[in-house]
Amino acid sequence: YRYINTDEKDKIKNNDKSIAFLEGKDLLDDGPRHNSLDRFDGSNWKVQRNREEYQKKMMLKEKFARVLGIKKPSPDPALDKEFGIIRNAEDVQIRTIGYNHHAFNTLISQRIGNHRDLPDTRNKLCTAQKYPMILPKASIIICFYNEHFETLMRSIHSIIDRTELQYLREIILVDDYSDLDNLHDNVLKAINGINQKMRQYEEMIETNNVDFEGIVDYINDDNALPRDAGKTQHLSQDGFNVKLFRTSKREGLIRARLFGAENSVGDVLVFLDSHIEVNADWLRPLLARLSEGVDGSMEYSTRAVLPIIDVINADTFEYTASPLVRGGFNWGLHFKWDNLPKGTIVSDEDYVKPIKSPTMAGGLFAIYRKYFEHIGKYDRDMDVWGGENLEISFRLWMCGGSLEMIPCSRVGHVFRKRRPYGFGEKEDYMLKNSMRMAHVWMDEYVQKVIQQNPLAAQVDLGDLTERRALRNRLQCKSFKWFLESVYPELEKSEDKAMSKRVAALNDPDKNKFQPWHSRKRNYTDSFQIRLKKTSLCIQSAKDIKTKNSGLILANCIRTLNQIWFQTSRDELVLGRTLCLDAVNTMTPLLGKCHELGGSQEWKHKSGAASPIYNTAAGMCLGVERAYRSEPILMVICDNQPNNQWDFVRT
Ligand code: UDP
Ligand code: MN
Repeated sequence: YRYINTDEKDKIKNNDKSIAFLEGKDLLDDGPRHNSLDRFDGSNWKVQRNREEYQKKMMLKEKFARVLGIKKPSPDPALDKEFGIIRNAEDVQIRTIGYNHHAFNTLISQRIGNHRDLPDTRNKLCTAQKYPMILPKASIIICFYNEHFETLMRSIHSIIDRTELQYLREIILVDDYSDLDNLHDNVLKAINGINQKMRQYEEMIETNNVDFEGIVDYINDDNALPRDAGKTQHLSQDGFNVKLFRTSKREGLIRARLFGAENSVGDVLVFLDSHIEVNADWLRPLLARLSEGVDGSMEYSTRAVLPIIDVINADTFEYTASPLVRGGFNWGLHFKWDNLPKGTIVSDEDYVKPIKSPTMAGGLFAIYRKYFEHIGKYDRDMDVWGGENLEISFRLWMCGGSLEMIPCSRVGHVFRKRRPYGFGEKEDYMLKNSMRMAHVWMDEYVQKVIQQNPLAAQVDLGDLTERRALRNRLQCKSFKWFLESVYPELEKSEDKAMSKRVAALNDPDKNKFQPWHSRKRNYTDSFQIRLKKTSLCIQSAKDIKTKNSGLILANCIRTLNQIWFQTSRDELVLGRTLCLDAVNTMTPLLGKCHELGGSQEWKHKSGAASPIYNTAAGMCLGVERAYRSEPILMVICDNQPNNQWDFVRT
C-alpha cells in the first residue's frame, strides 16, 4: 500500500496554505516562531475562485467531524466501577484468560468498548495555548503482538475521536505476526469499516450530496461493516487511512516499528503502543513543537518530542494523571522516572513549556520521518523488546538532537506488571539489546554496567559494525559529554529521596501505577461489619497489628479486632491500623495501608444488606456458610445472602 506519489506532499501543503489564507489567520502571530507563511507561493487567484466552495466544504467538514468523533453517552463515572463486577462464572473465565494472555483486566476493557470520555488531565493553561494552522502531517505507527482486540480498537478510536484529522495522514498498524485466533482478520474487518466510513465522508463532502441523518446512524454504528469487509482496505490517496500490515515472521517491536516507518508517508512519525487512549488535543502540541523553526531552508527539526504518559490502571482501567517527571536510567540500563531537577518549574507557564528529558520510556514519541532516517532509525539487530529506548535517547542527544516532553500532550497507557510474551527460547533479549547499545554508545562507561551486572560481559553482541559506522558518520559526541551536559543528576538522583508518587511509578512489583488520590485521607466513625440476618461479624483471625492475617466470622462483640473505620479513599481499616486488602484473589488479608487504591479500595452501599466490592479484584466479600470461624473469601458478586453485609455503627 505504499504510495509512490511525489506530488502528493506538495499538493497537501498548498491546500493547507490556501485554507490558512482564507481563514484570514495571521500565522505569524499564531504560534511561536512559526514562519510557514514564508513559503506561501501566492497563488491567490485559485484561492479566490474556490472561496465559496471551500466555505461550504468547511461547514460540512465541521458537521461531519462531530459525527465521526461522536462518542457513546459517557457513563456516569460512578458507574465505571460497575464495569469490573463479576456476575457469573463466564465473567471469571474471561477475566482469567485475559490476565493470562494480556496481563490486564480484559473484562473491564471489553465492557468499556470503543469509546469513552477521559478526564482532561492537562494543566488549565493548555487550553489557551495557540498553535499554527499549518502543521506537518502525522503518520501514527502502532505495532502489536497478540493485543487484546477491544483494547486495540479503543486505542484507534480514541485517536479518531480526539485528533483533528487534518493533521493525520494515516494510522499504520503493524501486526507483528500475531497468532491469537482471528485477531488479524477481526482487526482487518474493523479498520475496513472505519476506512469505508471515511471514504463516504470524503465523498459526501466532495459532492455536497449529503443524506446527513442516515449517515449519522451508520457512522456511529460500530458494528455496521461493509459487505466486502476483510478483503480490501478502502484506502484513498489523499484522505486519512487506517492501514494494516503484517510482518512475514515475528520480528519484535523494534523491527516492526522500522517496517511501519518504512511504509509511512506522513511528515512526522508518531509511535504509540497498542493499549493507549489519547487525551484531548494531544497531537497539535507535539507537531507544533517539532515544526518550530522549520522553514523552506530546513525540512525537519532535530528533536524528538514526548507526550506525558498518563496511567490507565491495568486492573481497573481507571485513567489518572501522571505527575511531571522525566526520563532517566541507572547503570543496570533500566529506564526510570526522575523528579524534575530543581528550578525546572518556577512559574505557572513552566507547566506548559517543553521540558528536556535525558531519556524516553520508549512507547510513545514523535519525530520527523526524515530526521528519524537521518539519525539512524533503530538498531535492526535488536530483538523483541527493550533497550531501544535508551539507544535512541543517547543517540539523539549525542548526535546533535534533543528530547523533550510536551506537558500539554497527554496519552494514557496501560501499565502492566509483566509482559505476557516471550520469543521462543528464554534468551534475555533485553540484556542483549542493551549491551549492543552500551558497546556502541557508552564508551568506557560500559565497565560501570558490567560492574553492576557481571553477566553483561558474557552477552553475544552480534555484529556492531554498522551502528559504529553510524556514530562515526554523524560525528557524535562522547558519552562523557552526555553525562556531564544532559544528565549530571545521574549519580545524585540514584540515592536522592524520591517522592512517593515517583517511587510508585518506578517500582514494578508494588502496585505499579495504581490510582493516586489527591483527596485527604480522613477516617469515618467506627463500625462493625455483620453478615446479613446473622449475629456474626468480620473479625481478624489474629490481633489487629499482625500483617497478612486472614479474616473470619465471629460472634459480634465489640472487641478491637471487629472495629472498622472507612477512609475518604474507600479503604477499610481495622482499628485504624491495617487495611483490608484483596491482593490475594482468593482470600482477603490485612495489609499495610499503601494508599494507592486498587486492591485496598472497597465499594459498598451505606447501611444494611450491601455487597462489599473490591475495585481491583472485581469480586466481593463473602463466606461459604454462615458459621462461626468461617473464613472470609473473595466471591462472585451476586445476590446470595452469604455476601450481603450490614454496617453497624459502634
Ligand atoms: N510488541 C510487538 N512485538 C513484540 C513485542 C511487543 O509488536 O514482539 C508491541 C506491543 O504489542 C506493544 C508495544 O510493542 O504495542 C510495546 O510493548 P509492551 O506494551 O509490551 O511494552 P511496555 O509498554 O510494557 O514497555
Ligand atoms: Mn505498553
